[in-house]
Amino acid sequence: MTEDILYFDNNATTRIDPRVFEAMRPWLTEHYGNPSSAYSAGRKAHVAIEGARRQVAGALGSRETEIVFTSCGTESINTAILSACSMDPDRRRIITSAVEHSATLKLCDHLARRGYEIIHLGVSREGMLDMDALRDAINSDTALVSLLWANNETGVLFPAAEIAGICRERGVALHLDAVQAFGKLPVPAEILDASFISFSGHKIHAPKGVGALYVNRRTRFTPLLRGSQERGRRGGTENVASIVGMGAAAALGGELVAVEDTAVKEMRDAFENRILETIPDCAVNGNRGHRLPNTTNLSFSGIEAEGALLLLDERGVCCSAGSACTSGSVAPSHVLSAMGLPAEAARASLRFSFGRFNAMEDVLHGASLVGEVIARLRAESPVATASAPVRFA
Ligand code: PLP
Repeated sequence: MTEDILYFDNNATTRIDPRVFEAMRPWLTEHYGNPSSAYSAGRKAHVAIEGARRQVAGALGSRETEIVFTSCGTESINTAILSACSMDPDRRRIITSAVEHSATLKLCDHLARRGYEIIHLGVSREGMLDMDALRDAINSDTALVSLLWANNETGVLFPAAEIAGICRERGVALHLDAVQAFGKLPVPAEILDASFISFSGHKIHAPKGVGALYVNRRTRFTPLLRGSQERGRRGGTENVASIVGMGAAAALGGELVAVEDTAVKEMRDAFENRILETIPDCAVNGNRGHRLPNTTNLSFSGIEAEGALLLLDERGVCCSAGSACTSGSVAPSHVLSAMGLPAEAARASLRFSFGRFNAMEDVLHGASLVGEVIARLRAESPVATASAPVRFA
């Protein structure tokens, strides 16, 4: 579908799928009963929520009772980590990585101030996790391992099934942040060994303001928000329409994954190849073989990403410098810094993330616009003209 804007920022958020919107519509207009009410309008809303729960569980291969609806991925992450800490208060070590989403990192910073020992596993130059370092970090004091499945900035994948196997063998709780991976990759059955898995609606063509948390039936759990809804696991009157939307999007899961693996991957690869062939002194950040099919993160020597974003925005191209949550700040991305990129290269990087509503002609047109913008910035930039171009190995 051709749009007015060239939207290449699907890791920041996605457009609602029209089928998802149609499923939601009655719950935004006609049916407004509270799902906790005993009369039929309430019961109807309750049934709709249970239908959505079945759809999410079906996409994962879990039991319905293992799915708790939340307000977003961030809430799911906070719930999982804080639950693990409160259920095992004597264990004070949390193992995570240096390249997590800010939802995990900021909560871990907060826990560090309350006496927790936070281990931030490093990554290689390609963004990959060292499994031996994970094994070595797990000790009898470990309350939780909390790791990404797919990195939002580079798309690089951590081996979720292998991580789940290690944590199971060592008897430690695992939280997987599957916010970016869900809907883009098939779900291996092994990851259901995790204690918790976090999901977000707005990354899978459902609306913002809804998420889900998988809580393994063998995991002891304590809620973040207390109340009677969600069987006491998440208080607060349910966001019925959005939960229905999340269910409808999850039910499209197999189709979404197939499209990501074919059309979306083809567009990402065509875009990336066009950029690499036509723009000198640029390089892909992250392992190109172990990545989400929709993401490319590129550094362009001699530019500041913030300037590129402004010029691209003028041309209708939406993309990101670092993650959306930290854009607007000039600090280099913590993910690229953890991968060992010099600050200069990290500040010169842009993330493009494609989706099912992009079209190949728009993607290739976008690649030409990126070429124009980079050439203009380099021509104007004192950095680019005064110093030799930086090489990004
Ligand atoms: N985890 C990852 C990997 C993400 O990319 C994001 C959002 O960008 C989140 C968590 C937070 O999800 P939400 O925006 O639903 O709070």
